[in-house]
Amino acid sequence: MRVRIKGIPLWGWAAAAALYFGAAAAAVEFAWDRAIDALAEVGAHRLDLYAASLKSELGRFEMMPAIVARQDSVRALLGAGPAASPELLREVNAYLQAVNDEAGSLAVDVIDLQGSVIAASNWNQPLTFVGTNVSYRPYFKDALAHGSGRFFGIGTNTGMPGLYFASAVRDAGKPIGAAAVKLSVDALESAWRTPGEAAMVIDGNGVIVISTVPGWKFTALRPITAQQQRDIQASRQYAGRNVDALPYRRTGDWNSNAWLGRFPDWRRPGRTTRFLVMSRPAPQAGDSVMVLLDVAGARRQQQLALAFVTGAFLIAGLYALYAIQRRRTIAEKLNAQDALRLANDRLEMTVAQRTAALTTANERMQQEIVERKRTEQRLRDSQQEVVHAGKLAVLGQMAAGLTHELNQPLVAIRTLCDNARKFVERDQPAQAVANLERVARLVDSMAVLTGELKTFARKPDVERVAVSLNEAVAHARLIYEARIRDERVQLDVNIPSGTTVWAESSQLQQVIVNLLGNALDAVRDEQKRAITIAAAEPDERERVLFTIADTGAGIAPEVLAHLFEPFVTTKPRGHGLGLGLAITSRIVEGFGARIAASNRADGGAQFTIEFAAATSQRMVHGR
Ligand code: ADP
Repeated sequence: MRVRIKGIPLWGWAAAAALYFGAAAAAVEFAWDRAIDALAEVGAHRLDLYAASLKSELGRFEMMPAIVARQDSVRALLGAGPAASPELLREVNAYLQAVNDEAGSLAVDVIDLQGSVIAASNWNQPLTFVGTNVSYRPYFKDALAHGSGRFFGIGTNTGMPGLYFASAVRDAGKPIGAAAVKLSVDALESAWRTPGEAAMVIDGNGVIVISTVPGWKFTALRPITAQQQRDIQASRQYAGRNVDALPYRRTGDWNSNAWLGRFPDWRRPGRTTRFLVMSRPAPQAGDSVMVLLDVAGARRQQQLALAFVTGAFLIAGLYALYAIQRRRTIAEKLNAQDALRLANDRLEMTVAQRTAALTTANERMQQEIVERKRTEQRLRDSQQEVVHAGKLAVLGQMAAGLTHELNQPLVAIRTLCDNARKFVERDQPAQAVANLERVARLVDSMAVLTGELKTFARKPDVERVAVSLNEAVAHARLIYEARIRDERVQLDVNIPSGTTVWAESSQLQQVIVNLLGNALDAVRDEQKRAITIAAAEPDERERVLFTIADTGAGIAPEVLAHLFEPFVTTKPRGHGLGLGLAITSRIVEGFGARIAASNRADGGAQFTIEFAAATSQRMVHGR
């Protein structure tokens, strides 16, 4: 797996880091080089300046001892030796004092051949040079030997460092003594003092004799050899001091006349600092001028360069990240667009496919509809055929039933008629009349039968009105009054008074007569003979539930399913045609009501009619 951070692979980060470190190193190096070069230029300039000022400063005094040496009084004093008059000594002393004051040197003195100072500008001061012996001082020796001498040293009397110039005093070409001038280098030191820099003059021993850092004066930059140490002690050059080495460390070369070194920092005691060190020979032989320049500025340049590179990298990095992010966003957007276009294409394709499928399905459906319509037509045709067949069947049944029902009375009438003729022939009119009366009764009962058929055939086209249930029940009860009494049937009627239903009065009576008649038939052979007729108050749907229940054997299961069909009966021939309930249900339907039959849990049958309550003024017309 490729590791990525912010979408950039690891090698990218590594390359960026390498580039950054490379650039930073190069920038730091470049800044350092440039800054040190600039510093070296400053150093060279300083060295020029210091050498020039040293030269001019020393030049001012270089000729002074020679001039003093030519003074007649000086030569006279040296020539006279110990026999010199006090006036001459006073004159020379006064002269030296005047010259010293005029030139601005530290002291001017005259030394005899033995090295004793016999006259001095400071003759009248407590630390006068007069009387001191300087025979061991190199400037004196050099003056006697070569005519002139020069020397950095610390005054043995005053303890003040200074530069000594000496010149031989001659008489007839032979040295008779020397004249010496001592000058202060304080002015040079203070003139050279620059912040962040140190300037110094190093003598032939490698000892710092002039220094803008006071603590470094008379310390050595080079190790002092035993011979040198002996010479120094002999000349009491540094007033008998031990010359210590300045604790510095050379850290590297810059160019032929500049190097880098770590020196004690005079501004922060106890710390060391890196300096660019440059030196050049001083105007006077054997000495050299040296400057130390603090490289802190260069280090600041380095830090600046580093900061610049870092800043540039950060900006470039941020821009790169932004660009990458932007590219990625654009790529994602393009991808999303592609995906969208693809999805769109797919959707269009799907829609086209679905549309085609739908069109096919639609066509199939249309075909199916046509097919179904055709089937329906066929069904209707066959239904009509069935109805027709059913009608024929009913007619057949009816014909059979009627034939049976009518045949018996017809046979009886035939027999009665034959007998009546015989009775007339035998002149027995009373029997003939009795037979004819029986014939009339039989004809009546046949009329009842055909009347019932008429009722069955008649269309229930009636006008419905509000009919009192209690009244209809009372009428039926009246018809069966004798039976109820004779057969000791307990009849309970429980109908709230004023209960009216939408019906037709005589048809409603017929319905109740039919149902009550069946109930009476059902309980006739039972131990307990009870019939209950009841009606409930109209419900929220304005329906009135009318029930007639008996304690008979209940409806036979095979009968129950076909109860309301014509010619269904369990009664013996001559007692029932099986038309009662068929007629009843048709009448009830004509009222807009519904009839249902069931067997009660505790035995007996129960018929229920759901009437429309005639409580409102609504009038419903039958079909
Ligand atoms: P019918 O009374 O001429 O038989 P119906 O149509 O009135 O014709 O009755 C059909 C049959 O329904 C009856 O023969 C009888 O078997 C059954 N039935 C009707 N009412 C009752 C009832 N209350 N209890 C038991 N059976 C009944």
